[in-house]
Amino acid sequence: MQHTVKVHDIDIKIKNVRETKGGDIEITTTGKEEVKDAFIKRIQEKMGEAVTAQKVMAKKKIFIKDIHETATAEDVREELLKQATEGDKQADNIAVTMATKPNKGRKLFAFATLPIETANKILKAGKLYVGWNACRVESANAPRRCFRCLRFGHVRENCESEINREDSCLRCCEPGHKARDCKNEPHCAACDQKGHRADDMACPEFKSKWAAKSERGRQGGKMRGLNRRGAC
Ligand SMILES: [Zn+2]
Ligand SMILES: [Zn+2]
Ligand SMILES: [Zn+2]
Repeated sequence: MQHTVKVHDIDIKIKNVRETKGGDIEITTTGKEEVKDAFIKRIQEKMGEAVTAQKVMAKKKIFIKDIHETATAEDVREELLKQATEGDKQADNIAVTMATKPNKGRKLFAFATLPIETANKILKAGKLYVGWNACRVESANAPRRCFRCLRFGHVRENCESEINREDSCLRCCEPGHKARDCKNEPHCAACDQKGHRADDMACPEFKSKWAAKSERGRQGGKMRGLNRRGAC
């Protein structure tokens, strides 16, 4: 294919070429979207109908919380689309899955998969407005929080802890009152230290779990520019 499709005259940089498990050839490129499209067109012209060339966009998953219970996944997607950077402004680039039941605070959460540049922009802002609600946004790589034992790294459904803190205060960890009425010194259940709440992202337990997770994410993550399907 390299001999057939010449790329010197178009402004595209080939970063990597590899064969995927499915037998496709994956070509990682950098360059403007128009140039990538031109490259795909050229492959298609030169190789004929035996191959299908298509663009695969690098995506990232983010976690959005505090969404008002009346909002729909489509509302969230619309807001994300408004935030999308130039090249990413296409509704089908963005997928949203949303919790079906609101939590006790009558809020919903959602996961969104979206082009990496747009995802980073939204993560940097730290919030997304859905309707009138400022919704907190985290990388989906952030460790999950268990609302039963208040520790990180698993969710309630998988909780094996002997301690059930579902009725405990998020701020001081004591049962019988809510965090908003709490006058005690913060005491974190996750790391058993005083000075911060159990849902604080400054918690060392949270940070260490997050660091370990993003490290794994980086090793596995790869930019994908374009994908070819079919036999050579
Ligand atoms: Zn737990
Ligand atoms: Zn308390
Ligand atoms: Zn802590």
